[in-house]
Parts: sequence; structure tokens; C-alpha cells
Amino acid sequence: MNDTATLLRGGRVLDAHRGLDVVADVIVRRDGCTVAPDRVPRSARVVDVDGCWVMPGLVDLQVHFREPGFTHKEDLLSGSRAALAGGVTTCIVMPNTQPTLDDPALVREQSAKPLRHGGVRILVAAAATKGLGGTLVTDAAALKAAGAVALTDDGLPVLDDAVMAATFAACRAHDLVFLQHAEDLRQTQVDGHHAPMSESSAQRAAGVRGQPRRAESDVVARDIALAEAAGARYHVLHCSTAASLALVKAAKARGARVTCEASPHHLLLTDADVVKHGVTHPTSADDLDPNKKMNPPLRDVADRAALVQGLVDGTVDSVATDHAPHAAHEKARGFVDGPFGVIGLETAFAALLTFVHDGTITPLRAVELMTSGPARVLGMAGQIGTFAGDSGDVAVVDPRRPWAVTPSKLLSRSKNSAFLGRTFTGRVVQTYRRGLCVWQVV
Ligand SMILES: [Zn+2]
Repeated sequence: MNDTATLLRGGRVLDAHRGLDVVADVIVRRDGCTVAPDRVPRSARVVDVDGCWVMPGLVDLQVHFREPGFTHKEDLLSGSRAALAGGVTTCIVMPNTQPTLDDPALVREQSAKPLRHGGVRILVAAAATKGLGGTLVTDAAALKAAGAVALTDDGLPVLDDAVMAATFAACRAHDLVFLQHAEDLRQTQVDGHHAPMSESSAQRAAGVRGQPRRAESDVVARDIALAEAAGARYHVLHCSTAASLALVKAAKARGARVTCEASPHHLLLTDADVVKHGVTHPTSADDLDPNKKMNPPLRDVADRAALVQGLVDGTVDSVATDHAPHAAHEKARGFVDGPFGVIGLETAFAALLTFVHDGTITPLRAVELMTSGPARVLGMAGQIGTFAGDSGDVAVVDPRRPWAVTPSKLLSRSKNSAFLGRTFTGRVVQTYRRGLCVWQVV
């Protein structure tokens, strides 16, 4: 039985879906929250959150929990713990597991599992093509009936124009959003070898191959044209270049159903950060940090500035982590041969707070980017990421609490954070999932 109520007393309540920014009490129950309640159940547990922000549980649109298939990196339980420690109560998981989430039975199983663990809510983005092969379109109707909230081939983007057009038609017919990892692999891979970082002076100095920015924006441009023609909803995952963002902005101005997200690492870091601490002039790949290798790669200062501007002007709809755990021995293969990806669930909101502290965005906008923003992308506004929803999911943040990101603090099975060694101001101190306190900073 879980019918206990908690009264969070005296916090700053931020619910972007309702435009709410007010100091008030909140009652948290299994089946929902009440802001500024008229009466408080006598049995309610009282928690004083004076000075803290009380927000709906956060929503992360792009997460890899590695189960099934790669549980030495992460599994649903360890991933769920990491999410809850970051205030994230809803994760949209990507289909690149082993087996691939391209089958309705697998989607149904994946969606049901976490409830048995009592953990984070899992929503599945199912594969758009069989085995992420890019040729055979999956059964969108059956996948949606099984619980899928979106279609994507994530790291293996659909490059064939006809397959992409057929996918958009299916998305339109079944009211699913298509999530694109926009990368023209023909520009970024040579003989199956992937360029490990973005084209830049550091890349040339280190003597590794570079990914051109156009590899992203060319796909975004093609997709927007096809999505508009089909009347489909299209979302750019981890948008990383100024050119891609400009295309999204222009499409939105035309009224196209186009959205995009930015990742904390692209918002805070650039290609210069790829060079290891203490190295002033990189001369080889050994001078580059494997924990700064992700795809899309870190870009230059102009790209980063454009993404930050997108937070301000509304072009960016959501901040999502692309939480991509890899074991230490895999990253130890080095910058060129190690895998792409960094974890991010536990640091995402703290990273985003950087832009509140420096006055770039308001607290309510920061909350929007990880609650009602991603909910809108999924077509789930009012259901998740708001106190109006029917689940007692809450994140409590102390916006002034400093903390250093160290491997021992991270609950994810993998420790490949791009922010190791960094000190953030602001930390998620409590998380409630379906009314239960499931995370508390000690
Ligand atoms: Zn991706």
C-alpha cells in the first residue's frame, strides 16, 4: 500500500505547463499532486523545502539504458536509479538494444518492466526500420498499440529518401513523432571508420579525422522537406550546429510541426574542451579525452552560442541527455577506438541551471525545457511533466547547493560523464515517483 501523502512545505513551485511560479505548499500522492491545498491530511508527512524549487518530475527525451543486450554498461534498474537522482521520472528509451526494439512484444515488455522495479517511468521510442537496418519499415500501428510514443532509428539515421518518406507517412497516419539522429554517415564515415570529433583546429592538430557540420544540417534540411510534405511531426535529437538550428527555426516560423532538443554537453562545452586538461597543444589522439567523445561531437563556440540563443528564443523545445553509458574498459580503448557517448541523467538539470544563474533564462524556462517542453514534443502535454498529471512525480532542487561531479557520486553503472571534476551550483535533493520518496541527497 502506498497511500501516504507528503506535504512539501514552503518551496518555490514551478510548473511551466500551467505558467506557475509561486511560493506554495504541495501535497504529493501516488496518483497526483495538489498545489496550495485547502486542507492537509492529518497523516501527511511534512517536509520543509524552504528555499528549494518544487518541480514536476523531469522528462528526458533521449536515454540509453542498454537493456536488453549491454547490461555491463547499464540496466533498467541502475539507469532508473541514476535518472531519479537527477530528478528525472520519465525516460524515453532508444531502440538500439540487443534485440532491437522493433517488435510490439518487446516494446510492451520494455514499457512494463520498470514498474516492477518501482522505478522511473519508461516510454519507448521504437525502431522505425527492422533491426535499424534502414530499409524495411516497421509496423507503426502495432508499435503504437504496444505503447511506443515515437519512432526513431537513432544512431543509425534513415538515409534512404523513400524509406524516410514512407516512415513520415506512417508517423502521420498513426500520430507518432519521428525522432532523428541527423547525421549523413556518408560524410562522417570512411571505410566504416567514424570520424571521432568535429572538424576544428584541435582535431587537425591532434591528427584525427573530423566530422563536417553539414553532415547534420544536410539531413535536417532533407527531413524537414519530407516531413512538411507528409504533414508529419519531426524532432531533431541532440541538435548541435547553428545551421541545423536555423533550419528548425525557419520551419517553425512556417508553421511546420518541427521541434528540436539540445544536450547539456553541447550547451556547455566546445571542441576545445575535447583536449585533455593540462595539454596546451594537442599533437595526437592521446591528448584527447575519451569522456568528451560523443555523437554528434562537441562543436565550436558559434554553434554553442546558437544553441544557448535557442534556449532563450524558444527554438529549442527540450533539453535531453542522450545518456549513453559505456564501461571503463571500453572508453579505455582511447579517443579514436573507444565508443561514442557520455552519461548525463544525474547532471542534466544542474548543468541547465548554469544558464539560470548567469541570467540567460528564467527558472520557469529551465523547468519547461525538461518538463512541459519534452511533453509537448511527444504530444503528451498535460499528462507528464506537470502537476496537472495523474502521477505523484516531483523533483525538489536546491538551486544554491554546490556539488562536485565525481565518479563515486554517480549511480549510473558507467562513469563516462563529460562533466567529471566540474562543480555545479544546484542539485536535485529529493525525487518522488508515484508519491514515494525514491531519492534523497544525504
Ligand atoms: Zn543519437
